[in-house]
Amino acid sequence: MTMSKTLIRGAKVLGGDVQDVLIDGGTIAEVGTGLSAEGATVIEADGQILLPGLVDLHTHLREPGREDSETVLTGTRAAASGGYTAVFAMANTHPVADTAGVVEQVYRLGKESGYCDVQPIGAVTVGLEGKKLAELGAMHDSAAGVTVFSDDGKCVDDAVIMRRALEYVKAFGGVVAQHAQEPRLTEGAQMNEGVVSAELGLGGWPAVAEESIIARDVLLAEHVGSRVHICHLSTAGSVEIVRWAKSRGIDVTAEVTPHHLLLTDELVRSYNPVYKVNPPLRTEKDVLALREALADGTIDIVATDHAPHPHEDKDCEWAAAAMGMVGLETALSVVQRTMVETGLLDWAGVADRMSFAPARIGRAQGHGRPVSAGEPANLTLVDPAYRGVVDPADFASRSRNTPYEGRELPGRVTHTFLRGRATVVDGKLA
Ligand SMILES: [Zn+2]
Repeated sequence: MTMSKTLIRGAKVLGGDVQDVLIDGGTIAEVGTGLSAEGATVIEADGQILLPGLVDLHTHLREPGREDSETVLTGTRAAASGGYTAVFAMANTHPVADTAGVVEQVYRLGKESGYCDVQPIGAVTVGLEGKKLAELGAMHDSAAGVTVFSDDGKCVDDAVIMRRALEYVKAFGGVVAQHAQEPRLTEGAQMNEGVVSAELGLGGWPAVAEESIIARDVLLAEHVGSRVHICHLSTAGSVEIVRWAKSRGIDVTAEVTPHHLLLTDELVRSYNPVYKVNPPLRTEKDVLALREALADGTIDIVATDHAPHPHEDKDCEWAAAAMGMVGLETALSVVQRTMVETGLLDWAGVADRMSFAPARIGRAQGHGRPVSAGEPANLTLVDPAYRGVVDPADFASRSRNTPYEGRELPGRVTHTFLRGRATVVDGKLA
């Protein structure tokens, strides 16, 4: 059997020196200058940025149950388009991914897709009901090898259940990813609680609803000596709590979404439900604090919270609309705009926040590895000079609920490689 060879010629590896990268089969064979192209397909990178394949710790693929909004196949195609080689699929499917059977089904569908590895996340509690621990051990021991557990969409608000979950996953190095939202403080909430919500007369979602749960959970993690991950952190106050927890040596990690790095609650004045999301868009002050925290490492990673919804669930009045935005295909561009072009992060920093660190937190095998000889060829080539207007008609996702329609964003993924095989070529799905 002949293994295919690809030579990526003249790429800035992690934004640094210009190098050639030779891929042989599923592996990076050589990194250097003036490498031989003999027998290889050549890609002229012309100084584009070569990154390790991106890893998303927070994706909603909607299968099983809501295949009208996304399937594992369409979601992994969207992921590859956005430069991802691995995504962690959230458990709030129908049925809920709270058994070994369901997580194995999602895992198998990911393998069949061939576009992107899918690592299922297991529910913390049965049916996401917050009452009884799901079979965490059985999901970990299954073929899916679940290490991340989350009731995302719902908060594990019972402190005793949260404590037990943290204790349980500690035994096998797992992590609980918390959707931090105190449920009583957010009943009827429609947007961020503040000046704009008061003016619009919409039910407010106070920052303290997020911050109080994060404060409780870092203390619980410290108490039981376990690891906790905070999903989609959205307020300046949450940053302060995580910074304090890390300074105490508490094993906490945190993520921020691209939309919370760019958009504010001022957009809700349009009453366009495309801006309705959980947690809600916050204020300019929060956005700036989140960027700074991502830059200094207080926030460890960018995670998309890619949340596809069909047209009928979004194209309606604000109060009735579903919460969430698609994000896989625009994440890297938003990070370039908010973090790279502002001078807060260089491309090596982007590689850390969008590949190395999420792979480490989720224990993703073979992903988030250095771009060097002998490593799996999971790679993304990015043209940072590209400028384009976001057109949802171009999306590979089955859903179109993007807040960036008609906006100009920088950068484009030109090639993605999953174990040496091109999933994206010249900006198009292979
Ligand atoms: Zn969530």
